[in-house]
Parts: sequence; structure tokens; C-alpha cells
Amino acid sequence: MARKRRPGAGKRGSYKKKPPQHKVICCVCGQEIVTPVRPPAGQDLTCLDCVSAEKPTP
Ligand SMILES: [Zn+2]
Repeated sequence: MARKRRPGAGKRGSYKKKPPQHKVICCVCGQEIVTPVRPPAGQDLTCLDCVSAEKPTP
């Protein structure tokens, strides 16, 4: 019967855990993109600016 919930766990204090950041270069404009998602290897990556520029907006 020693199950207690720690009060305020993960709320405040030294909770420093950054998500992993991956730096990739946009294949169109050469801009550096920082993404928390690991980019697939061997694939050209495009930054959001170029992606939205490529797609024709209706
Ligand atoms: Zn770009």
C-alpha cells in the first residue's frame, strides 16, 4: 500500500528535456530547416516556404 503519486511531477522544477532536433537543408533554396522529425535518408527535403510555393493554391 505504498502507492503515492508524486505531487507536481513534471510540472515545474528542472524538467529540461528537449526534443531531438534534426537539421536539414532545403534542396530548393538551401535554407536550413530544423525539424523534430527525423528526415528520411536519401530524400530531397523542401522547406515549408518552397513547399507552399510549389503547390498551386486554388
Ligand atoms: Zn526552401
